[in-house]
Amino acid sequence: MTLALTGHAVSRGIAIGQAHLAERNELEIGEYRIQAENVEAEVDRLQAALHSARHQLELLDQRVTRSAGMAASEMIQTHILMLADSSIGDAAEQRIREEFCNAEWALQTQLETILAEFRDMEDEYIRSRGEDVAQVIHMVQVELGKVGDDRVFENIPDRLADTLVVTSELTPGELALLHERGVAGIVTEHGSPYSHAAILASSLGIPAVFGVRLAHSLLTEGENLILDGRLGVVYADPDPAFIEHYHEIERITSRFRKSLDDIRDKPARSLDGAHILLQVNAEREDEIRLAAGLAADGVGLYRTEFLFMRGAAPDEETQLAEYLSAIQALDGKPLTIRTMDLGADKTSEALDFSLLRSTLNPALGLRAIRLCLRDTDLFKTQLRAILRASALGKVRCLVPMLTSVHEILMVKTLLDEARSELKICGQAFDPSMELGGMIEVPAAALAIEDLGYHLDFLSIGTNDLLQYALAADRVDEQVAHLYDPLHPGVVRLLHYMFASCNEVGLPVTVCGELAGDRRYTRLLLALGLRSFSMHPGRLLEVKQAIIETDTGRAKEALEYWLKLGAGRQDVSLLRLLDQSQK
Ligand code: PEP
Ligand code: MG
Repeated sequence: MTLALTGHAVSRGIAIGQAHLAERNELEIGEYRIQAENVEAEVDRLQAALHSARHQLELLDQRVTRSAGMAASEMIQTHILMLADSSIGDAAEQRIREEFCNAEWALQTQLETILAEFRDMEDEYIRSRGEDVAQVIHMVQVELGKVGDDRVFENIPDRLADTLVVTSELTPGELALLHERGVAGIVTEHGSPYSHAAILASSLGIPAVFGVRLAHSLLTEGENLILDGRLGVVYADPDPAFIEHYHEIERITSRFRKSLDDIRDKPARSLDGAHILLQVNAEREDEIRLAAGLAADGVGLYRTEFLFMRGAAPDEETQLAEYLSAIQALDGKPLTIRTMDLGADKTSEALDFSLLRSTLNPALGLRAIRLCLRDTDLFKTQLRAILRASALGKVRCLVPMLTSVHEILMVKTLLDEARSELKICGQAFDPSMELGGMIEVPAAALAIEDLGYHLDFLSIGTNDLLQYALAADRVDEQVAHLYDPLHPGVVRLLHYMFASCNEVGLPVTVCGELAGDRRYTRLLLALGLRSFSMHPGRLLEVKQAIIETDTGRAKEALEYWLKLGAGRQDVSLLRLLDQSQK
């Protein structure tokens, strides 16, 4: 009989194969006393293990960057930074000196202190970072025990093709090891969908379901498994018809992928001739090059937070160099640089942490433009760098998380000041660089015309707009079921926003994840959207949906649905939109 186990869908894709129950070599961390004369030697042992763990991470970085790209690399860099943090190395050293304990134990007690602090954090995302600290410390403890990466698992075969590894948990290093051995899919009992191992699995394209409770005891070695990474489900011992059904899904998916290559150079035009602008969200040069290969219309969202997450705030020249390399990779297409959106789930050492963390609801606190208007020196440095970049290519400036007109006016004043400063130093800039704003706050959405009046273009950040409109934290899996783009309130809000913009001719883009989700492409077209910005990997799928849509008919279906009145939620809007095309 088929058994279906559910967990967190962390990485799309289907894997079909045999289960391998991996036994982890659990480290036994014991405590023993160090004699006073041996304390220095113990500290040296700790330092050597820290050094060696760092070396392991650097090797891992080189290994995964080739196959998983810069996003994975950044994640490993975060682990390297954590390793260098004084709350780990220095604090453990202090414990050895003061408590005369062994290095493993010093790290373990320090880990418990750190985890206790993380547990008190309100923010789910920050809490989930505790998992990363534990993994980093575990690496050092492994080094202290001289257990190599490939000995973390007791019984892992060299070749893992057609094998789905089932394990209690996974570190990024272990995941890279499984990847190198060709693992088909991964099931873990623990681990959050926001963990770095989860992000890495997704970047490497390994289908994975995390957090499948009791997987180790419910699954048996060698039994057939189907892992559906889209749904977060693992089927054990499926019958042959079910396996064939999934093979068919794999074949359809692969045909679909091939068909997408054929539309790479086709214009993004709907059946009724509406021309759609398709831009990408990108922050790394390799992503921008990928977008150029897809014939994208430019970068609609260039997030700049990564510049501020490497440590101290980058100076004007450093920022300019980054923007310039993006401009060059774009080869004349526009680059929309978003000013830093730090705060809430995006923290940075460049900022005063106490200011950000002390607040009960960080997502409602001092983030993005609110923070920039508080720390205007940091903000103005960025504005100057963006202005200087505008002399070197087609650059637009986009401000996140706007709430009021007052904020826009303050940004404009600071931009004027930045221009005057550049003029004094003889630095060139484009005097007519466009200024846009992100609409992510529901009140700003309802006042979209008032804000838009002062701006050259608008971009709707549906990720945040939905979280605020539905009061459902975007990183809290416990309320993920409420995060519904088809909620009638959300559809009405979006309808209002597009109708307002189109009426007064305000250019508007959607740059949240919704823009790259082809299930909603027809809805967005029906709402009147003509400019999308999305992850480059989604561009061709969305283009395909555009090519197959008559926007006029889709609009009629949407208007019909909106007039259905109370109880309309029972009628599937997406089905109505599909039927309108037949
Ligand atoms: C959004 O909120 O939709 C958006 C694009 O911004 P971010 O995901 O970076 O918050
Ligand atoms: Mg946002």
